[in-house]
Amino acid sequence: MTMIKTLRVMLIPNKKQNTRLFQFAGSARFAFNWALAQEKKNFDEGGKFISDYELRRLFTQFKQQTGNEWLYTISNNVCKQAIKDAVIAYQKFFKGLAQHPKFKSRKRNKPGFYADPVKIKFSSTHVKLENIAQSKKKNRQSANWFRLAEHNRIPTECSYSNPHITFDGLNWFLTVGIECEAPKPAAGADGIGIDVGVKDLAICSTGHVYKNINKTSRVRRLKKKARRLQRKLSRKYIKNKKGESYRKTRNIIKSEKQLLRRTHRLTNIRTNHIHQVTTEIVKREPSFIVMEDLNVSGMMKNRYLARAVQEQKLAEFYRIMQYKSDWNGIRLITADRFYASSKLCSVCGHKKKDLKLKDRIYRCPECGTVIDRDLNASLNLYHYGKSILTH
Ligand SMILES: [Zn+2]
Repeated sequence: MTMIKTLRVMLIPNKKQNTRLFQFAGSARFAFNWALAQEKKNFDEGGKFISDYELRRLFTQFKQQTGNEWLYTISNNVCKQAIKDAVIAYQKFFKGLAQHPKFKSRKRNKPGFYADPVKIKFSSTHVKLENIAQSKKKNRQSANWFRLAEHNRIPTECSYSNPHITFDGLNWFLTVGIECEAPKPAAGADGIGIDVGVKDLAICSTGHVYKNINKTSRVRRLKKKARRLQRKLSRKYIKNKKGESYRKTRNIIKSEKQLLRRTHRLTNIRTNHIHQVTTEIVKREPSFIVMEDLNVSGMMKNRYLARAVQEQKLAEFYRIMQYKSDWNGIRLITADRFYASSKLCSVCGHKKKDLKLKDRIYRCPECGTVIDRDLNASLNLYHYGKSILTH
């Protein structure tokens, strides 16, 4: 049995490569919009739906017209995939499953494009993309090789799927699916219940507690700096407003970049923390993991908490926990939405109906147990998982 892992790495392009990446992304946007316009025109004229195959044929003709030669300098697959994307989006609209797809704009959409999964190549330090070098000469081909920020992360001998390159405002990233052997079910006998929360990120039934990184002084300081910069920036916007329109001065563009760098730094710290925690949990080799469904946990109903949930990237925690469990053959169990993990006593099973959100300690009136609220919840989740697996 095989499975597909999706990996993401940052690229380190040189100046020329950087320009080419933007050209590729621009062409992808162009082809997407072109395909959409064809569909729209056809539809408005009473036609039905143009197939992917037909559109690609039309696009080849379009490329041959004078003035469109520049499209030949772009790797074939870039426009091909963009057209495919447009067709899929349009199909959804046509079937009544989605709204009419929007045209892509430079402002609204992040630049990005698909690379060819067959032609992409990896070395331990570089990735090769097609047609980045504009000359066919042998000594110019090194321009096709991009430095990777992480070495030995992506296996060099394997089959790749869906390589996608995107720009996040500061850096270029490559995501790619790699095929690998599915793991055997985890051998460990025992499981872990995890209570995910706002006070701490995660409390495990094993007693391990993982802190909420947003409460550290380092993150607080960074947040404060970002907020200050944001305020400064909005003042500059207003100062440079001419009539109804906003004007971007060089200074503003510089500050925007700076702000982006700050917010990215924060995001990176948060994501990194989640990776460390999930990896540590997985390394304990549990045979199963139990968590509560985030959307029914009650945290999203409270406005203040919902913001904290977002800030802590709890949804991301679930997503990462899910795929790391898959990668390691660990069964991930989501507790039933009616399972009251925090109201039950983890020792005797008594249900305390009047437990409030601010009660940090669980005191059982039945058996007298006094226990941390979150640890109690995680133990309940653990029991829940056990009962599911034995029935
Ligand atoms: Zn009890």
